[in-house]
Amino acid sequence: MTPYRELNKEQLQVLKAQLEKEFEEVKAKGLNLDMSRGKPSKKQLELAMDMLEELKSTDKLKCEAGIDCRNYGLLEGIPEARRLLGAMTEVTPDKIIIFGNSSLNVMFDTISRSMTHGVCGNTPWCKLDKVKFLCPAPGYDRHFKITEYFGIEMITVPMTPTGPDMDIVEKLVSSDDAIKGIWCVPKYSNPQGITYSEETVKRFARLKPAAPDFRIFWDNAYCIHHLYEEKDFLLEILEECEKAGNPDLAYKFLSTSKVSFPGSGIAAVAASPRNLEDIKKHMSIQTIGHDKINQLRHVRFFKDIEGMHEHMKKHAEILRPKFEAVENTLEKEIGGLGIGEWTNPKGGYFISFESMEGCAKAIVAKAAEAGVKMTDAGATYPYGKDPHDSNIRIAPSFPTLEELQTATEIFVLSVKLVSVEKLLAE
Ligand code: PMP
Repeated sequence: MTPYRELNKEQLQVLKAQLEKEFEEVKAKGLNLDMSRGKPSKKQLELAMDMLEELKSTDKLKCEAGIDCRNYGLLEGIPEARRLLGAMTEVTPDKIIIFGNSSLNVMFDTISRSMTHGVCGNTPWCKLDKVKFLCPAPGYDRHFKITEYFGIEMITVPMTPTGPDMDIVEKLVSSDDAIKGIWCVPKYSNPQGITYSEETVKRFARLKPAAPDFRIFWDNAYCIHHLYEEKDFLLEILEECEKAGNPDLAYKFLSTSKVSFPGSGIAAVAASPRNLEDIKKHMSIQTIGHDKINQLRHVRFFKDIEGMHEHMKKHAEILRPKFEAVENTLEKEIGGLGIGEWTNPKGGYFISFESMEGCAKAIVAKAAEAGVKMTDAGATYPYGKDPHDSNIRIAPSFPTLEELQTATEIFVLSVKLVSVEKLLAE
C-alpha cells in the first residue's frame, strides 16, 4: 500500500471521494456501537455468577479470625481476603488493607486526606501555596480528573515504551518540593498496555524527592489481567523501595473490579507499615468497617491466587479474540499507510492509537457520526488536552466480536477520511 503522504493532490481527491461514499453507506445503517469504556462484556460477567451462590447457610459466615462476617469488626479486612489480594499484588497480608468496592474511591480518598490532614504528619496540602502532580500521559482519564478536582497542578510526563520518561521524573521530583505525587499504571497501562521495565521500577524506588510527603500512586489495576500465556513481568515496587531505603515512597492500589464484578468487587491498598498506620488513623474515623460479606464471598469463590489466575484465563479467552480483531483490522486496513500507529498489548483493557498530528478529535467525531462511540479525544491527557491531538483510546472489551468488527471498520474508515482531508489541507 502506498503511504498517503506519497499520493499527489489528484490521487488524494479521488481517494477522498471513494472514502466519502463508503462512509455515507455505513452511516445510513444507523448503528449504535460503543468502544469508549473498559467494561467487561456480559459474557465475562457470567464467569463469576457462582460467587453469588456462596455463603447461603449461616455456618459459612465466619471468617478465619472466628468473626461473624455479618457483623462489625476487622477494620483492615478479613485475614483470608488480605492474603488473597496480597498475593494478587505480591505482598504479605500484613502489608495490605482491604477497602470497599472501588480502588478509584480509595485513590480519591488518599488525595482528599492529604489535602485536609497531610501525609504522615506533614503540612496538609491545602495549606500550601502550590501542589503539583506528575501525570505520565497518555494515561488514565479518571486519575487526572481527581487531581484536577482538587486544584492540583498537573504536569505531563511523556510515556516511553518502558514507562514514564524517568530522566524527566527524576529531575522534576528532586528539584521541586511542590511536587507531591505521580500517577502510575505500571502494568498493562491504561491506555497503552505498557508494562514498566525493571530499570524504570528501580529508578522509581530510588527517587530522591525534594518533598518528604511525595508519594508514588502505583495503580496496579491490571496486575493479573494477561491476554496470553507469555506474560509481561513487573518488578514489585514496595520491596524495591525498601531495598533503596525509601520504604514509604509508594502506595499500591488494586481491586477485583475486572476480575469479578466492576463496582461490586473489593479494593485494597498495599503500603509500608508507616503509611498503613497513617491511612488507618483516617479510616477508623471514616468507617467501622467495609463489606466483609463480599470479601468472604470473593475468597470462597476464588479460594487462592491460583484460582484467580485460572479465572483470569477464562476472561482472556473472551478478550483475546477481540483485541486481535481490532489489531488485525488496523494492520490490514491502515498498516503501512503512515496515518496511524497503535499498541499490541499482552494484557489489560485497551489499545492506544496514535493518529497523524491534529487528527484525533476529528476522527472521534467522524466515528460518532456513523454511530461509533469512542473515548473523547484528549481524555488521556491532563485537563483533557492532548498537545498533539493524536491519541485515541480503543476499548475492545464491551461489544460482541461481531459489533467490534463493524465498529473497528468504521473507526478505520474515519481515520482514513480525516487523514486524507488533513493532507489535502496542508
Ligand atoms: N485504575 C485503572 C487504571 C482503571 O483502568 C480502572 C477502571 N477502568 C480503575 C482504576 C477503577 O477501578 P475500581 O473499579 O476499582 O474503582
